[in-house]
Amino acid sequence: MTLRGRLTTAFLAVVLGPVLLGSFFVGVTVATVSRDRTVERLEHAATTVRTAIGAMCRQLQATADAVAVLPAADRRSAADQLVTRGLASEIRIGGSDLDGRRDCAAPAGGSVTAIVARARQGEVTVAAVQALDAAFVARLAASSGAEVTLLAGDGPGAGPALSSEPPEISRAVAAALPGDVTAHGHRRLRAVTAEPGQPLPLVVSVPQPDAVGLYALLIAGVVLVAATAMAVARWLARSTTRPLEELAWAVGKVADGELGTRVPVGRDDELGRLAGTFNRMTRELQAYVQALTASRDQLRGHLAILGDTLSSTHDLHRILEVILQTALSATGARAGIVLLLDPADGRLVARCAEGLTGRWDVPEAELAALRVPLGTGILGAVAVTGEPRRGICGIGGGMLDEPACRTYVAVPICAPATVGDPLVPGDTVLTGQPATLGVLALYDRLGADGFDDADLLTLRTFAGQAGVAVHNVRMHEEAQRLSLTDPLTGLWNYRYLRESLRREVERASRFGRMLTVLVLDLDHFKDVNDTYGHAAGDTVLREFARRIRVGLREVDVAFRQGGEEFVVLLPETDAFGGVIVAERLGAAIREIPVPIDARRQDATTGRPLDQVSISVSIGIAVYPEHGTTAQQVLDAADDALYAAKNAGRDTYRLAESRPAPAPTVTEPVVSAGVPEGHFDHATAPDVAAPGMPGGPQAPRQGRGR
Ligand code: GH3
Ligand code: MG
Ligand code: MG
Repeated sequence: MTLRGRLTTAFLAVVLGPVLLGSFFVGVTVATVSRDRTVERLEHAATTVRTAIGAMCRQLQATADAVAVLPAADRRSAADQLVTRGLASEIRIGGSDLDGRRDCAAPAGGSVTAIVARARQGEVTVAAVQALDAAFVARLAASSGAEVTLLAGDGPGAGPALSSEPPEISRAVAAALPGDVTAHGHRRLRAVTAEPGQPLPLVVSVPQPDAVGLYALLIAGVVLVAATAMAVARWLARSTTRPLEELAWAVGKVADGELGTRVPVGRDDELGRLAGTFNRMTRELQAYVQALTASRDQLRGHLAILGDTLSSTHDLHRILEVILQTALSATGARAGIVLLLDPADGRLVARCAEGLTGRWDVPEAELAALRVPLGTGILGAVAVTGEPRRGICGIGGGMLDEPACRTYVAVPICAPATVGDPLVPGDTVLTGQPATLGVLALYDRLGADGFDDADLLTLRTFAGQAGVAVHNVRMHEEAQRLSLTDPLTGLWNYRYLRESLRREVERASRFGRMLTVLVLDLDHFKDVNDTYGHAAGDTVLREFARRIRVGLREVDVAFRQGGEEFVVLLPETDAFGGVIVAERLGAAIREIPVPIDARRQDATTGRPLDQVSISVSIGIAVYPEHGTTAQQVLDAADDALYAAKNAGRDTYRLAESRPAPAPTVTEPVVSAGVPEGHFDHATAPDVAAPGMPGGPQAPRQGRGR
């Protein structure tokens, strides 16, 4: 059943129930009152009739008595006078032929055409007779207010004798039982039996008042009320349920995704307010969904950029910038910063920032000046404990080492935990906990009181990305450095020698410059190994490499070609310059023996006890004099080295001049992995320390943290 049906039914039940019940009681009461009044009228009529007939009997008796007491001679004339005066219709003296008449004193039996009263005086009986006729009955009816029917005899079935009613009714009336009030058609009847003093059996009857009109009126009223109630109920139900139907329709539309659906408000009642609230709800929902969609699209864009950036570059600054942008977009924060730990400095250094104010609002180039000591403030605490934090700081907040904000969330950037990873510190390997590389912090979430746990979780995800990115970039840098340097001496390795030589030869050929290559080989180095051990040999190699670096200019580069063979590249240098360098390097190794155990020293002189005197043989070749390609120049220098060895070692030889070659087109040189300009020390993968030209630094322990 619909709500409208239920409302209609309930209204009708409430309105029509009492109306019908009231009508029923009115009907019953009217019927009862009407019947009681009829019975009363009948009783009254019966009493009146009895009294009238009784009075007549008493009058007849008095008349008879009056005649009887007179002398016999006067009786006749007196009787006639009394008849004349109308006190009786007939007075008989001495007769006894009146037995057929109703006797007032002994009413049983006898015709009802007359009533008689007798008086006895001696032997004489005087009977006063009153004949009964239609006029008498009409008078009775008039005085009693009811129709009167005299019955022909006592008991049922006697039939009517005289009646004020039409004959057909009087016959039916005559059947009424004595004492009862019965109905006949629209009449009510009351039988009056004969008794001493009232000798006539009769029936009085009155018409039953007609209640049909009243009932019809009542029913018409009920029908009218019912029809009105029905109409009102329908209108009420309709006006109540229509807004609900509209709301249900609109809710269905909203459920289908049509958030622009509105319902008419119109009324100033609860339903009107409900409609207004619904419209406001859908409006806000629509705005919210639009904002959500926009921020999702923005986030999607940022995530796409993040994915591209992570997969396409090792530019750490760019990666951190994109991660910060994406984190800001994902959480709706106003500002943010990424700081990485500088292991040398022991402080957090700002690497990229967005939206910061005050002293933290600096140009990108000056970001490195923003440093936070470990353990200081929120950022320092997060870096030390590795625990993320979020909360309220208040504007300024008294936090001198923090950006000003109202709310913040800061999470550590951790390296992925990898056992045995050279870039991860020892404690990480032991505990299995990822080491902190830095901190990612966001400030002032827009449109909300503060950052919640979901934001913290999101930020941890981005911090995880940042950790992996930093780790990967540093791994990549380290791998690149390792692939180009010699781990024992820290000089560039053979691979980088080939690249550098080819590039330098090409550059020299393009600009018509010269280039000198020295190939150095320690003399009798095998003996050092054999005498002092392999470790001592390594020490000598490291020391020789150091002396080479010290003995070179900034622009010169030294390589370890393999074993105890080294190469030095002298750009913009001719044979003369090469010879000077060769002499200097030869002297540098020859003149000072190499200590192989610094701890063992002579107590008096302070000089090392275990030291190795060693020398070096050097071959010198010059581009383009001794070769037009890198390989030719290197081979020429090798040949010269061989010559120096043959000449007794601890000396140098210049390669033999070749006849000038016919001009040829120089092959283009393809760089394999080493970018142009890497020979320039300022941009080499790992720059030699100031004052130590000629090669990269030895691999630093713990680099990468
Ligand atoms: P020559 O004067 O003819 O050059 O004699 P040499 O003994 O130096 O020459 P040789 O080529 O016979 O021996 C080179 C030795 O260098 C052999 C090898 O044991 C040693 N060596 C090569 N690489 C290393 C290294 O990395 N460390 C140590 N300790 N020794 C090395
Ligand atoms: Mg050798
Ligand atoms: Mg040697």
